[in-house]
Amino acid sequence: MKLAFHGADQGVTGSCHLVECAGRRVLIDCGLYQGQRELVAENVEPFGFDPADLDFVLLTHAHLDHCGRLPLLVRRGFHGEIITTSATRELARLVLLDAGHLQEEEARYHARRAARGGRAEDGQPLYTTLDALNTLDHFGRTVAYGQPLALAPGIRATFLDAGHILGSACIFLELEDGGQQRTLLFSGDLGNCGRPLLRDPTPPPAADVVVMETTYGDRLHKALAPSVQELHAAIADTFGRGGNVVIPTFALERAQELLYYLREGVEAGHLPRTMQVYLDSPMAISATTIFERHPECYDRETAELFRTGRDPLDLPGLHFTRETQESMAINRVGGGAVIMAGAGMCTGGRVRHHLKHNLWRPESSVVFVGYAANGTLARLIIDGASQVQLFGEAIPVRASIHTINGFSAHADQGELLRWHQHTGTPARTFLVHGERETMRRFAALLSHTQVETPTLHQEFAL
Ligand SMILES: [Zn+2]
Repeated sequence: MKLAFHGADQGVTGSCHLVECAGRRVLIDCGLYQGQRELVAENVEPFGFDPADLDFVLLTHAHLDHCGRLPLLVRRGFHGEIITTSATRELARLVLLDAGHLQEEEARYHARRAARGGRAEDGQPLYTTLDALNTLDHFGRTVAYGQPLALAPGIRATFLDAGHILGSACIFLELEDGGQQRTLLFSGDLGNCGRPLLRDPTPPPAADVVVMETTYGDRLHKALAPSVQELHAAIADTFGRGGNVVIPTFALERAQELLYYLREGVEAGHLPRTMQVYLDSPMAISATTIFERHPECYDRETAELFRTGRDPLDLPGLHFTRETQESMAINRVGGGAVIMAGAGMCTGGRVRHHLKHNLWRPESSVVFVGYAANGTLARLIIDGASQVQLFGEAIPVRASIHTINGFSAHADQGELLRWHQHTGTPARTFLVHGERETMRRFAALLSHTQVETPTLHQEFAL
């Protein structure tokens, strides 16, 4: 029995862990490295194992940093089965096709830029839309939360609700090889308790070995209720000035959660019934439709709303704008609108058009609700830039800028610790999916277990 680490080791992207037992090889996640260029370059490196030797991939959830190297895995010879919850399967289809398309676009962009600079670049994308389509053929069985699945003699897998995004799971493995028995628990990404729509993470069972994420292992989140109030107040103030509110949005869970808070605001009378809300992101619209198809993932309040015929994500003035023409028509709305569009960090996508039309207007607002990495347009605006470049034009920043931090989809330090306590006294705990310093601080809080912070391609006998 062996456990090896091939991604998200002392970093937050590229999740990829390999289990070997009873002659079978099971991969847990196959995520993309995201972020600065050199990190992205890690994606083309060899996996550290032969994809053709794998029997199964178990996917914890559909975020790109957990599933985004699957098309590359297939291109390099994987012919096994990918197993997920049914909601993850639907979201992963959306995410992977979009990723294939973006990889092709990015490759073309870099090739053009290289050509202008007189350099040659092969212009080959990491993978293509066709590779993503081929990957979909490998999605096999789906599993319900809490139902053990016998993968092979000596390997049983149970997916447990991780409460992070729709369909997300922790994966519990029961292994037996030559009379030796071990239980392994992979956290995947853990959700933040008390948020609407999804359930809190299911308390995990005791396990011999735990592999857990540590994204926010060194800090506590701001409370949710004041953040929702802040959002409502920012919108009401902006409408009072006659402007629009632009919210750069991550498509996969933030957009649905925001719709939920906006509906609550209207019902409580904090926001006007006449408010026009534009969800201007084809991917977020698709993700919202998928959300509505998966009642098995809802928390009690959300299930109750649907049961009584009320859609928790529906608002009186909500518009889904899929087509480019519809998106451009929003530019003519002078005030009273909330516009949600991607990309969340404003690195591309339709949100840049809405920023161009609203950033210079003192009556408008831009509300940031997610993580903004250094060097992104979102970060520049948050840090107080007085003007920014958009489509070759210098646009002055006169709108009011808000940053609201209470909407994280990740467990904070306290929640990670409580989750770990449920695992009993594991012989070993492997920390992954966190920055090195964050892991060091979190490790200091764990007693009754031997803590490891594996490096890339490090292998352990179990
Ligand atoms: Zn995630």
